[in-house]
Amino acid sequence: MVIKAEYIWIDGTEPTARLRSKTKVMEGPGTLEKLPIWGFDGSSTNQAPGDNSDCVLKPVAVYPDPIRGGDDVLVMCEVLLIDMTPHPTNRRAACQAISDKYADMESWFGIEQEYTFFKDGRPLGFPVGGFPAPQGFYYCGVGADEVFGRDVVEAHLEACIEAGIAISGINAEVMPGQWEFQVGPASPLDVSDQLWVSRWLLYRIAEEFGVSATVEPKPVKGDWNGAGCHTNFSTKAMREGYDPIIAACEALGAKAEEHVKAYGHGIEDRLTGAHETAPWTEFSYGVSNRGASIRIPWQVAVDKKGYIEDRRPNANMDPYLVTGMITETVCSAAS
Ligand code: ADP
Ligand code: MN
Ligand code: MN
Ligand code: MN
Repeated sequence: MVIKAEYIWIDGTEPTARLRSKTKVMEGPGTLEKLPIWGFDGSSTNQAPGDNSDCVLKPVAVYPDPIRGGDDVLVMCEVLLIDMTPHPTNRRAACQAISDKYADMESWFGIEQEYTFFKDGRPLGFPVGGFPAPQGFYYCGVGADEVFGRDVVEAHLEACIEAGIAISGINAEVMPGQWEFQVGPASPLDVSDQLWVSRWLLYRIAEEFGVSATVEPKPVKGDWNGAGCHTNFSTKAMREGYDPIIAACEALGAKAEEHVKAYGHGIEDRLTGAHETAPWTEFSYGVSNRGASIRIPWQVAVDKKGYIEDRRPNANMDPYLVTGMITETVCSAAS
């Protein structure tokens, strides 16, 4: 039986990497055991010089392809050099090492991916040459005057469910044309693989509607919310008690600068202190506080156990880097 396998990988574009993919027609089934290593021209993806251009694609996770259907699959890959060691742009390998090192602490992540639709060079719902009514009614809104792109969002949600991604919800965001979906909770590697594949599905499905989606962190300058990737995190100990929750906040505070630098290009423009953010230069944490770097959800403070929300990561962050770093910081301080 012949199947189509869409090999998806992360390129070497600076400062923010992009997704690439290409199709392999092969004899099925499309399982990790059967999917072969493949290659691509790294000189066209900012991953190799033209005179030594071959890079290697190694399948690491497989999902049913909700677009092509049948037995076709989406294949998340990591990029290797031809000696089979991780390519310098491969951040999954490092995430895997950290995840293995602290496996006994059972880290879980739930990531809230915010993004913005664009059409004709402006956010979906923005009028030609001007601005829509100020923010206030768009967040979780309903009605054609407030909500733009719901058909794409619904198609994306359905596709993620069919692909077996642990998508846990969607909502319209504060700026017109801006939306969010959440993936998780899941382990650092699973949530990261799934977030990248769900981003790919978003761009691919938006194509069908003639719109583009972007994870640009500050798509409109001025008094409009930026786009983030709030990263919710817990270890087994945090899910069972409150002291480990406070210890995690303190550990993250001790390495605040290092974290902010790894949380996505352009973070200074988004973490200004306005628009439900804490300034990127100051670390803070607090119960229910959406103006803090880390929020302890209200219910968690009541239950005295649960998880914390790192509100700093940008929409354009690399989840391999962010989940790896949070796991390392919190788990090394706790062990
Ligand atoms: P917000 O109120 O900040 O908008 P959301 O409902 O959008 O929150 O997202 C919360 C995320 O936290 C979801 O992805 C959810 O799966 C995740 N989550 C819930 N419990 C945990 C936990 N114990 N550890 C890690 N993530 C969790
Ligand atoms: Mn949310
Ligand atoms: Mn949000
Ligand atoms: Mn949030």
